[in-house]
Amino acid sequence: MNIDNKKVALAQLQQLLNNNFTCDADEMEPWLTDWRGRYTGKAIAIISPISSKQLSEAVKICAQYDMPIVPQGGNSGMVAGATPSDDGDSIILSLRKMNIIEFDPNTPDTIICDAGVILQNLHDAALAHSMRFPLTLGGKGSATVGGLISTNAGGTQVLRHGNMRALVLGIEAILPNGTIYDGMSALKKDNRGYDITQLLIGAEGTLGIITRAKLRLVPAIQDRIAIWVGIENPQKAYKLLLHMSKKCAEQMEGFELISESSITRVLEHIYGTRLPTDHCPWYILIELVQDNDAQTNVQILAESSLEEPSENGLILDAVLSISETQIEEFWKLRDSISEAERAAGPAFQHDISVPVHHMAEFIETVSPQLEKKFKGCEVIAFGHMGDGNIHYHVKAPEGVSHEDWLPLEKQINNAVYDAVISYGGSISAEHGIGQVKLHALERVSSEARLFALRAIKKAFDPNNIMNPGKLITLD
Ligand SMILES: Cc1cc2nc3c(=O)[nH]c(=O)nc-3n(C[C@H](O)[C@H](O)[C@H](O)COP(=O)(O)OP(=O)(O)OC[C@H]3O[C@@H](n4cnc5c(N)ncnc54)[C@H](O)[C@@H]3O)c2cc1C
Repeated sequence: MNIDNKKVALAQLQQLLNNNFTCDADEMEPWLTDWRGRYTGKAIAIISPISSKQLSEAVKICAQYDMPIVPQGGNSGMVAGATPSDDGDSIILSLRKMNIIEFDPNTPDTIICDAGVILQNLHDAALAHSMRFPLTLGGKGSATVGGLISTNAGGTQVLRHGNMRALVLGIEAILPNGTIYDGMSALKKDNRGYDITQLLIGAEGTLGIITRAKLRLVPAIQDRIAIWVGIENPQKAYKLLLHMSKKCAEQMEGFELISESSITRVLEHIYGTRLPTDHCPWYILIELVQDNDAQTNVQILAESSLEEPSENGLILDAVLSISETQIEEFWKLRDSISEAERAAGPAFQHDISVPVHHMAEFIETVSPQLEKKFKGCEVIAFGHMGDGNIHYHVKAPEGVSHEDWLPLEKQINNAVYDAVISYGGSISAEHGIGQVKLHALERVSSEARLFALRAIKKAFDPNNIMNPGKLITLD
């Protein structure tokens, strides 16, 4: 982009957006680094439009002058997808000022949100109408609807309700030429060719900008219970998953696997945490809910479904929560793992999935192989076992600094991803590709997948102005 074009484009954007335009270095600074603090870029300006119409005009200006746009919601993404590159040519497009929520009593099982609505506010708005938006995650205080859709986020309730893709009924988006795509009608039947809404979900802002969405709601929870289980190994955890799925069916919303080493760190580093059972090699955190009168009471369901695994020795120990406070305490143990791990030293983090029935074998086979190959490292596996998705972290040996551990990153990542692919899995289960996995995706993907990804990107965005350098490169 030549300097004259840049100046003209900026002047036009400033005139259009007025107070919702800034190129002040101090105001921009907090938004230039990703959540994990590993990538920092540069931006010419941040624009924060307040309506789809205003955003559409802004995108037309950017398209005319080939100015790259980096969409940004809460900046809580894990793969630096909302961080600009360091060439300093892009503008950041913040959606945070577009945050209206609409509820229509005629369609109480849906809600319409602007892209900048924060997940916690969406939860509160649904609850005010005795409904629930059934997707939650640790970043809910900052993650926005637009970011969640663009990363096809998962979280802890995917087991029953699916990921973001399953909860989006319709979207409105601005395409790279500035036109407004209206896919909000949420028709049950609509066969007008390619499904543009589904293409834009999980596209990480590389095909267009989500401005509004119609989302699915479910009834609010009447009662819930959390069960903390001690178990010997991941194979037994998988058997327990099959058993509980059969007994509890759709009332089971979460089935999280946690290792003893993760819990030891949580107890050491996170104030106020306490283990509900004796120490065991592995743990499972299960959540059962009741959200309609026809379902079984959760206490009765938990007790009856655990009878058989207790009697036949499948589980070592189990504690049922007796209050909402205790449910929160159990979840705090699970949700604090990343924070505790950070306090314990450097690690390379991987968000991977393999077919659910292969997960136990994957952990039990690949982890010792990696620990042997990279002497002194420790593999930590935890997370959404019920979805076949775990967070798979390779921690540096005790006392090794981040700088000394960094040169091994590529080698370790390649070893993990090769193993994942050999099990028919994915190198990104729920966080996306962004900048972090850009080259890894190219390395492990088939020619057909890369051809399709590039063809779609080129067709939508031939001048590559939508979040360039994320998800897929053009050659
Ligand atoms: C503590 C913590 C726990 C987390 N746990 C989980 C978890 O369990 N599961 C999970 O899936 N994620 C998890 N995340 C990651 C993160 O919250 C999600 O990726 C979330 O979807 C990001 O939303 P955001 O608004 O912050 O998006 P951002 O980080 O701002 O952006 C993410 C991507 O979406 C694009 N984008 C943002 N808004 C738009 C838009 N309106 N239109 C087009 N593109 C857009 C950006 O360009 C970028 O590529 C966690 C994060 C934190 C901090």
